[in-house]
Amino acid sequence: MQLKSRMAPGRPLRPDELPEDSGVPEPIRAAHAEFWRCGQCRKIYWTGQMYRRARGHLAARLCAAAAPVPRAAGAALL
Ligand SMILES: [Zn+2]
Repeated sequence: MQLKSRMAPGRPLRPDELPEDSGVPEPIRAAHAEFWRCGQCRKIYWTGQMYRRARGHLAARLCAAAAPVPRAAGAALL
């Protein structure tokens, strides 16, 4: 276990590592093996329709944490 690096971009979280308040629905947890959390706004991303957006968000530091972000859909603005 490398809990110290949980916040680091690029290090996927397993479903059982997601915090209870992550907002990730249980069906999503069950359907995906890897999740990523932005170290700034702490939004959770997973592979699928949001994957490329998440990669851009995390890799390009496009985090809009300073602005109100409505759940995961906030990434659509990016
Ligand atoms: Zn972010």
